[in-house]
Amino acid sequence: MSSNYSYGKVMEYVASIATHDIEVMDEKGNIVTYVAPSKIVISPLFYRNDGCNRCGKCCRNYDICFTKTGYDIVMGSPYAKYTDMKEAHILINGREKTIYYDPPTSDNRSKVQCKHLKFNTEGMSYCNIHSVRSVTCKIPHMTLRHNKQGTTSISRQQYGRNWALGCTFEFSETFDYDTFLNSINELNDINVIAKDLGIETHYNLIVRYLNSIKKNLQNNIVPTKQKQVFPIIEEVKSSQSKLF
Ligand code: SF4
Ligand code: SF4
Repeated sequence: MSSNYSYGKVMEYVASIATHDIEVMDEKGNIVTYVAPSKIVISPLFYRNDGCNRCGKCCRNYDICFTKTGYDIVMGSPYAKYTDMKEAHILINGREKTIYYDPPTSDNRSKVQCKHLKFNTEGMSYCNIHSVRSVTCKIPHMTLRHNKQGTTSISRQQYGRNWALGCTFEFSETFDYDTFLNSINELNDINVIAKDLGIETHYNLIVRYLNSIKKNLQNNIVPTKQKQVFPIIEEVKSSQSKLF
């Protein structure tokens, strides 16, 4: 979905783990329907080490949006003074919801970059609202891809946020526990947005599974096969060792 002010990206995240179909109507009356996934899997690539070269590419041609919780956090922070928040009112399954966005200073999308993107004297990018940035900024590499067969695959890829922007980071295939813990926080951020928008998700099932393998991960025993977290498959105990 192309959209104004990134809420299309936010909706993609939420819809990819939603329990029911979602119909979104924007302020112009355009309607987009998201079909709920019939299956959710976690790819082994989800567990690989993540990072960032601070090239700033993924903050170009980009803008940011928040739902109520994120908006309140920004406005209650010292970073509020850097923002110029606007509101968009959309209907989600017939109920009005407010999206808050901080538009770029230009409407020319081929030239524009997020107004919060800054560079230090060494040419490395930084964000002047880093600690209160939007969910689309927080998860540049975690992907929740919903295919035509109805399966959402949760993974980690260079082009998670927007492949066209050309992320320069090269993943290593090693596991990193802090990246994993951060991923759980990122999933929680998506769930907070879903709650703000009145959308029910399979977040609890996903995180319950991830928490269940924490001990294995701490011992560097990392899943090497795709794991289906929805619908739940009752597994025979003796076969569980084959998962890792
Ligand atoms: S808010 Fe910060 S992280 Fe997000 S796009 Fe702008 S500069 Fe990048
Ligand atoms: S494009 Fe990739 S390397 Fe560059 S700032 Fe974004 S996440 Fe980091």
